[in-house]
Amino acid sequence: MQEFDLLIVGGGSGTQVGSLAAERGMSVAVCEPGPLGGACITRGCVPSKALIRRADAIRQARDADRLGIDVEVDDVDLDAITSEVRETVYEKAEHQAENLRESDDHTLFDGRARFVDDRTVEIEGYDERVRGDRVVVAVGAETTVPPIDGLEDADYLTSTDALYLDERPDELAIIGGGYIGAELGHFYETIGSEVTIVQRSDALVPREDGEVREAVTESFADRERCTLHVGREATAVEERGDRIAMFAEGQGEEVEIEADELLVAGGRKPATDDLGCEAAGIALDDAGFVEVDETLETTAENVWAFGDVIEGPMFKHVADHEARVVAANAVAERGEEIEYEGVAHAVFTWPQVAACGRTEEELEEEGREYERARFEYDSAPLGLVSKENGFVKVLAEPDGTVLGCHIVGPEAATLIHEVAVAGRVGEGSVDEIAEAIHVHPALNEVVLGAFDELADPPLSTAPDWSDVSMEPGD
Ligand SMILES: Cc1cc2nc3c(=O)[nH]c(=O)nc-3n(C[C@H](O)[C@H](O)[C@H](O)COP(=O)(O)OP(=O)(O)OC[C@H]3O[C@@H](n4cnc5c(N)ncnc54)[C@H](O)[C@@H]3O)c2cc1C
Repeated sequence: MQEFDLLIVGGGSGTQVGSLAAERGMSVAVCEPGPLGGACITRGCVPSKALIRRADAIRQARDADRLGIDVEVDDVDLDAITSEVRETVYEKAEHQAENLRESDDHTLFDGRARFVDDRTVEIEGYDERVRGDRVVVAVGAETTVPPIDGLEDADYLTSTDALYLDERPDELAIIGGGYIGAELGHFYETIGSEVTIVQRSDALVPREDGEVREAVTESFADRERCTLHVGREATAVEERGDRIAMFAEGQGEEVEIEADELLVAGGRKPATDDLGCEAAGIALDDAGFVEVDETLETTAENVWAFGDVIEGPMFKHVADHEARVVAANAVAERGEEIEYEGVAHAVFTWPQVAACGRTEEELEEEGREYERARFEYDSAPLGLVSKENGFVKVLAEPDGTVLGCHIVGPEAATLIHEVAVAGRVGEGSVDEIAEAIHVHPALNEVVLGAFDELADPPLSTAPDWSDVSMEPGD
């Protein structure tokens, strides 16, 4: 048996805790069967946004005629794009692995780990078991395969496959209109595929605020090569030679969709099926997520868990935020509690979406009293002259405490940081953003406009000159 101060199971965000532990002189073991860096670097955030960056460039070029510029996009070489992206991200993952191998404080075990008792794992490909005084479980999540007739035996694409195709499918059917399905749908429609999305709920990006869902769904429905089946559920899949057919039901009818490729983006589940958590005394909830307390410690003593494997929003920046708390507790024994208030997120579709805090529907459900303001992009000078569409919506307590902010439109993922940084949701006041001096005419004035509507007094209100005498000499 090999023993370490800290054992990290999962080499995605888990490696961040390992680095901090190593800096403090702890011996660290990392188990990771795949490329280092986890889903984010090779299968998630980075390659998907690399593709979307290119799709956005195409859309900007096509939309340039609104600004009086005539541009034609002649060709998109998907093979060249995905090959370059693959090379870049795998090089980064390999570089990270080399750093660990060269580190005196780290030992990298490149196999899948399984708990055999509390704080001890066996690792595929290794004879010796590995034990940690303290353990961090950060195994992430994997694609859910929905129970659809014929799907398991069919040749479908996962989101990982869809990131690295060398040929554009002429027709792509997608099960799931959550953020992964919508982002990949945006990419493939933009480069010329006929895209059909089947989404069970009545709108795309179902976790977003109602007005945001509506705006995104409408904008996809308006696309030249996009067919939406919202409010319909995929029921069966059938291979037809080198094509694939999907059946979907809902709204009183059954539809049949045939395509070259089928992408399954129906959700992700924690990667705990084969982790042996029971042997380690690590409790899982009904959905398979590892149960943790406020300090992110599991039901097993000195075992912490974080990232996609625990219940909560599955985003890399959330995992990074949790990694800092786990490091404080597992390495520095500080007993810090996790705080999620004010965590923003974005969806990189076209239009882009970003949000922070509660949706209007959540506030209604909670019976909270709130005020709302909505400001359109073209009401701000730069939005107007750039002919941008979109809006910023702010939700606040009657005393001005920010409860939520939702943005749909260009640069939404960047603009939301005004709220994430300056007006922490649940703490800060709308006045903090409204009173900040914004650069004119930057797009941030869209955010300013929405917050100003709820500010007390609104800065856009003309000052009260009524007590100023206009008599000369006064
Ligand atoms: C297509 C796609 C796009 C995304 N885009 C974004 C985005 O734009 N922004 C954003 O914030 N998030 C995005 N995400 C989500 C983001 O990738 C995850 O939230 C983040 O990677 C979670 O980090 P993690 O460390 O918990 O898990 P992971 O990064 O998945 O790391 C877990 C690691 O554990 C390993 N592992 C699993 N089982 C075992 C085992 N038994 N033993 C040892 N190792 C094991 C896995 O191989 C994996 O490398 C996207 C995800 C996908 C799929």
